[in-house]
Amino acid sequence: MPWPTCDVCNREDAVGVGASVFGAISLAYGRECLKQEAEACWLLAWLFSELGPDPDVYAAWVWTWKTFVDGKYITARAYFDTFGRDFFDTAEAPPAEAPAGE
Ligand SMILES: [Zn+2]
Repeated sequence: MPWPTCDVCNREDAVGVGASVFGAISLAYGRECLKQEAEACWLLAWLFSELGPDPDVYAAWVWTWKTFVDGKYITARAYFDTFGRDFFDTAEAPPAEAPAGE
């Protein structure tokens, strides 16, 4: 069985497998991602989709983590601010019809 690659950045060898802080799932983590306190962006995307579109209701500790996107580490909040709208169905409801008789 080959040694796993880091599930966060997919670019470094993992140094171990452990539970994520964001849910009941285990990931392989590399040394740099552990040092950066980074979690997989797809896990953050899942968390955001579960918690909803208002970041002000999130527990403060969520924003203390980072993730790895497009070759660099960014804060969880930067990830939310950049990609958050993609995680929610923001389509507006169709306009209500004008009341009859006007
Ligand atoms: Zn990594």
